[in-house]
Amino acid sequence: MINLYGLEIKKLEKLMVEEGQKPYRATQLYTWIYEKKATNFDEMSDISLKFRNVLKEKYCLDLPTVSYVQNSADGTIKLLLKMKDGMQVETVLMRYNYGCAACVSSQVGCNIGCSFCSSGLLGKKRDLLVEEMVGQILVLNDILSKEGRGERVSHVVVMGTGEPFDNYDNVMDFIRIINNQKGLSIGARHITVSTSGIVEGIKKYAREGLQTNLAISLHASNDEKRTKLMKINKVYPLKDLMEAVKEYEQIAQRRVTYEYLLIQGVNDTLEDARELVELIKDTKGYVNLIPYNETNLNDYKRSSNNRVHAFLDYLTKNHITSTIRKEFGSDIDAACGQLKAKVENKT
Ligand code: SAH
Ligand code: SF4
Repeated sequence: MINLYGLEIKKLEKLMVEEGQKPYRATQLYTWIYEKKATNFDEMSDISLKFRNVLKEKYCLDLPTVSYVQNSADGTIKLLLKMKDGMQVETVLMRYNYGCAACVSSQVGCNIGCSFCSSGLLGKKRDLLVEEMVGQILVLNDILSKEGRGERVSHVVVMGTGEPFDNYDNVMDFIRIINNQKGLSIGARHITVSTSGIVEGIKKYAREGLQTNLAISLHASNDEKRTKLMKINKVYPLKDLMEAVKEYEQIAQRRVTYEYLLIQGVNDTLEDARELVELIKDTKGYVNLIPYNETNLNDYKRSSNNRVHAFLDYLTKNHITSTIRKEFGSDIDAACGQLKAKVENKT
């Protein structure tokens, strides 16, 4: 069975032509599943019964199922979703004043193995399929529509579990589906992919002709410190990473966001801030400072508020546009991978 939610429009058009149909069938199907929210083929009244039967034989509209929900007082919703093979991933909905942002996972587990991240602890189990990423948004939209406040997912960050550029093709198809006007119609500028710094991925992404955003998980400004936090830095050291960022800026004509976790005593001194300015000052990117979310899986501690603000002030004084990431769901298992770890340890 082919899952319709996994098909980027060009691929669906090709399949329809192979079925002896006109390419516009693809748009018609998109309208049914994404706009009219049909969940089975019988609803598709303007498609002949005969072709509906063909569709039913070969295609399905399966979504992941919700196995655990956490609701935070601030409106954040954290889901544990179960895929067909029983594997589970986390998806989070964050409510901003400008809309609802979904934090989507791209893999079950992660092979990059950053020392501070609970998603990486057990390694990668598998890549997520396109339909499993689209499914994360559809399940959230369904919950929002049942809440009846007229909300829907308006922003997407591929910042859940997994390294998106280690599942490159599926992530690109996912982006094209959610961005398509007949798909979920989420504006390109409302879509962000976050990478640990896979250089080939950054270069390829620069050439996709997308107006989507790119975030780089930097977290340290010299190779020694960065390698301790992110062993991927051995493969793609800062020199290569920064070259790739500059190439991206040139080719895509977009600026990146640098994500920088602040961990007490590890990367949060003013000397670290000075090095960061040196490292990125020739690029146009801005910095998103992330106070570390402590987990019981390692000894890293969050930097004090004073440290965080001193770091921010230093960057700002040195003409680097910077913000401190707003925190969500601090009363639930907020850190990446924590909910899955908790639920799966219990069972
Ligand atoms: N693999 C990609 C995208 C997923 S991780 C990447 O690394 O960019 C998304 C972000 O969550 C990364 O910036 C990562 O550093 C951050 N993160 C991981 N564990 C965290 C924690 N305990 N507290 C705060 N941020 C964390
Ligand atoms: Fe993987 Fe990103 Fe976690 Fe690193 S921070 S282990 S790349 S999910």
